[in-house]
Amino acid sequence: MEIIPSDVIKTLPKQEFSLVFQKVKELEKKGARIINLGQGNPDLPTPPHIVQSLREAALNPSYHGYGPFRGYPFLKEAIAEFYEREYGVSVNPETEVALFGGGKAGLYVLTQCLLNPGDIALVPNPGYPEYLSGITMARAELHEMPLHPENGYLPDFEQIDPAVLKKAKLMFLNYPNNPTGATADQAFYEKAAAFAKKHDIHLIHDFAYGAFEFDQNPASFLQAKEAKTVGAELYSFSKTFNMAGWRMAFAVGNEKIIQAVNKFQDHVFVGMFGGLQQAAAAALSGSPEHTERLKRTYQERIDFFTDLCEMELGWSIEKPKGTFYVWAEIPNEFESSHQFSDYLLEHAHVVVTPGEIFGSRGKRYVRISMVAKQGDLREFVLRIQKLGLSFASLQETSR
Ligand code: PMP
Repeated sequence: MEIIPSDVIKTLPKQEFSLVFQKVKELEKKGARIINLGQGNPDLPTPPHIVQSLREAALNPSYHGYGPFRGYPFLKEAIAEFYEREYGVSVNPETEVALFGGGKAGLYVLTQCLLNPGDIALVPNPGYPEYLSGITMARAELHEMPLHPENGYLPDFEQIDPAVLKKAKLMFLNYPNNPTGATADQAFYEKAAAFAKKHDIHLIHDFAYGAFEFDQNPASFLQAKEAKTVGAELYSFSKTFNMAGWRMAFAVGNEKIIQAVNKFQDHVFVGMFGGLQQAAAAALSGSPEHTERLKRTYQERIDFFTDLCEMELGWSIEKPKGTFYVWAEIPNEFESSHQFSDYLLEHAHVVVTPGEIFGSRGKRYVRISMVAKQGDLREFVLRIQKLGLSFASLQETSR
């Protein structure tokens, strides 16, 4: 019998990140030492008190059977307290919080809950490519909102075609922003929520880098007056607590959206291991000092790296306001970011993410993750220096 995958499988976009990992593995098998600044995978360990909490929880037999479908109330209460403490936002732990097995799963579930076939979803370009997966699976269409450096990488809502707005049912925003490192303030969120309300568009704010804004504490979308009327915020444990492998995230916001998420998840999952939930609650209730230190570490790495690029390569890179990424223009001699990153992998054994993965507006950029110690960041720059590329012309063409 011939196995014929469904149409959804056929139309799902390529998983670009996994293609890069494959290439890296092949080179490593041949003995190359690769410096991988391509993936947004935190290099530092999960704080010990969180790991300790999981160890203790593993010994608790009450977690060994099925748990509550929608998660333990103690974790939802810890989430509500975290939002109150960090952002001054009140959240009802019973009705306004839903748990996910990772932010990526959350993006998928939210799109299934909010989109019908033929609806339009508005996504940023450049933007996190995984928004596309859920949109494709919901058989919805995608409309890109261009982000320009002149506007601080914030979308200009007024530029969206009214015909598109009529069909638009969902908008994704993401600040601090992957890949550009741009940030947004409360005034922007007020505008976004009011716009979404006016046009009946659900708004999901992806707050995966919510801990990392350098000059101030980041604003939460939920601080906007109409936020809970129109949408929800997705928060991930991956970056704030170095828990990317744990696969944990949550959404907070509009009660009806949370209800839909709960209903959907009741049909697909049976909560997640109670031990993970206990440790996640420990993460949220612990001292914010660890996160503050982590933020400073990323900021120091960004300063170190961009200064070194300028000094050693003449590569001028604007320092981001948040996240742990730098968004850097590629030298003129390369046709595309794919070509440039393939070249770097082959000739310098360093990995960067081609900007095109984030949309057409990333064509002349690469994203470089500051997920390595300063020694490796220096080595990364020195390996590129040996290639003798010219970065100098960038300053005249684009600045
Ligand atoms: N949103 C953005 C913008 C991200 O960069 C990521 C992870 N790289 C996620 C969501 C998902 O994170 P996770 O699945 O690890 O929670």
